[in-house]
Amino acid sequence: MSFSAQVKEELCRIDAPRCCQLAECMGIALYCNTCSGSELRIITESVSFAQRLPELFKHTFNLSFDQLPDLSIPGKRSLIIQDPKKLRIIYDGFGFDLDRSVSLHLNRGLLEDDHCRAAFLRGVFLAGGSVTDPDKRYHLELVTSHRSVSREVYALLLDMDFSPKQTSRNGSSVLYFKQSNGIEDLLTTMGAPISAMHIMEAKVEKDLRNTVNRRVNCETANLTKVVDAAQEQVAAIEQLMRSQVWDTLPDKLRATAKLRCDNPEATLQELADLCQPPVTKSAINHRLRKLMGLAETV
Ligand SMILES: [Zn+2]
Repeated sequence: MSFSAQVKEELCRIDAPRCCQLAECMGIALYCNTCSGSELRIITESVSFAQRLPELFKHTFNLSFDQLPDLSIPGKRSLIIQDPKKLRIIYDGFGFDLDRSVSLHLNRGLLEDDHCRAAFLRGVFLAGGSVTDPDKRYHLELVTSHRSVSREVYALLLDMDFSPKQTSRNGSSVLYFKQSNGIEDLLTTMGAPISAMHIMEAKVEKDLRNTVNRRVNCETANLTKVVDAAQEQVAAIEQLMRSQVWDTLPDKLRATAKLRCDNPEATLQELADLCQPPVTKSAINHRLRKLMGLAETV
């Protein structure tokens, strides 16, 4: 199941009071596929939403859908009302004027209380929203074909201290969120705290993975530096061995040179420990520098 579907399932478990049911229905109508004087058509892939709708409209308007989908068939499900009497009841409930080609707008009178605003957003998301799996990226969007409605929902979200972004795509108006905490807050407000928690967890995990990766990269870089330095030393020592200087070197220097050639991947500390008798790391460092300096002269 996609993350979007999980969120919708969680939202559909909510039992809302009557005032909130009307607000939720208005959100659904403004963000569903068709909301006109002749038809209300809601198309969804979410089984839980398709199951919630008949009950919600029954409780709110005491009416049923004219066409219901067969829930056992996967894919997109259509729920349709075309009966003019039913449409009039619904649009009257929202305060929409049916006589002048249905003027769709946000009836703020239905959204005075916080619980009703939350329910409205839930309806908006159920009908026209989607959210990307937080393991991939953070993106939540609300899509409607009514531009003025999108602007009104944008203003509502600002009033509620959210900061959505606006864009348009294929003639539809899109409000979207890209910040994980904005998405968490919106999901919590709509009534999906478990999904919000999932985003928080995904973020913690992602941050942790980034920290570990950064550290590994850093360690790899250090290791590469050690190996590069050792290779330079070995090359210098081989040059010395081929020269006349080699025989004139003190025993300590020659022993260190051989030790380095035999252990090209050892760190300075490891080389120091391999010496007979063991010496300090700085002593080894000093000898290797001396060898490098001598190699430059031959
Ligand atoms: Zn309410």
